[in-house]
Amino acid sequence: MAEGPVSQPEVRSVRYEGTLDLAGHLAKPGDRVEHAFAWGQRCDRRGRCLVERRVGDGEVEQIWSSPEAVWTESRRYTKEEADAHRRLLRLAMPSEEMPSRDLAYLHPRLGDVKDSARYADWHRSDGFVVPRKLDIDHHDTDVSFEVTLTMVEARGDDTLDVPTPPAATPNEAASIAPLMDGIWDVRLPEHDARSFVLQLDDGLLVYEAPWSSEAGEKVVDLIARELDAPIRYVAFSHHHPHYTGGLRAFMASGATIVVPKALEGFVGTIAQRTFATAPDRFAEGGEPVRVKTFETEVTLGEGAKRWVLHDIGERSHHTEHYTVLWQPERRLLLEGDIGWYVRDDETLRVTQRSAGLLEAIDSLGWAPQTLLQSWPVNSQPPSLSFERFRAAVEAAP
Ligand SMILES: [Zn+2]
Repeated sequence: MAEGPVSQPEVRSVRYEGTLDLAGHLAKPGDRVEHAFAWGQRCDRRGRCLVERRVGDGEVEQIWSSPEAVWTESRRYTKEEADAHRRLLRLAMPSEEMPSRDLAYLHPRLGDVKDSARYADWHRSDGFVVPRKLDIDHHDTDVSFEVTLTMVEARGDDTLDVPTPPAATPNEAASIAPLMDGIWDVRLPEHDARSFVLQLDDGLLVYEAPWSSEAGEKVVDLIARELDAPIRYVAFSHHHPHYTGGLRAFMASGATIVVPKALEGFVGTIAQRTFATAPDRFAEGGEPVRVKTFETEVTLGEGAKRWVLHDIGERSHHTEHYTVLWQPERRLLLEGDIGWYVRDDETLRVTQRSAGLLEAIDSLGWAPQTLLQSWPVNSQPPSLSFERFRAAVEAAP
């Protein structure tokens, strides 16, 4: 007997469980960590979906999407985040039986990459097909991961109630402004990222190369527009994307990348990324990459304008290598994301990282007056008196 046409349900609902093998935001480039992972996805015929996912024993996170927007209860995703989420949705819910699916695209930071899924052991229920075995290889905006999942449930549903997305909050434009004598603050609110620009005698030293080639090029252009000096050097606090994603733009500008010796290979992998689909400035220019390495410490510039770059390493309680900048004459210390957070009520929140930073500063015999911190950008000012920082760390439980 021939099978009649099977009517698709209004809503396809599937749940998977398995593992998430995650790369990104870890102690050193190439590190990975495995978590238990649960993924539930419900999508209606109008292209609207609800994802409920849980990493490890964390909270269940709900992510809504429609053809117009992707959002959680508290915020609307940026275009970049929404694109990444939609790729994951496509890979996780194929509409017909197939062995695998590849999605090739230009990642803003990684260049030409491919997200892919492998499917096996197809199951048919309630008028739609689902792979019981699902492996996905995905690049998110700032992390990459592989998930290995097994289906626990698949069923058709009648309705999916989709709430209204939070309003899109337009970001301020990227900007450059003087912060102190010889120090400028370049802000990229869209990425919650910044670079500090420091005047040397014969040019500029930039600290942090944020997010993506495009973001880095924006920083380089703002500096060129505002300051009549070449970018001699660029340094970064640590290897995470908010601080290194834009390095290729600085390579293209001819700046020398100043890094702890152990991160030289990491800088090399950034130079080797492929941007063939839409060449970034570095892919177009073909400049040689200039790298200057140091073991624990190096000084750039002279006299009152000298900056000491020091790798405080694991005392950061964040990454294996972590470069802070110290200017002895003005008693200024620059770091990336290990200092402090300002709460809504303006009190300070400090962490294990803050304690590690204080310990490093004390052990080096530095006595800063002011700390400058690159992240976060949109929720707090970049500077803090060292006295207030010390008091907060010492008062912390
Ligand atoms: Zn970090």
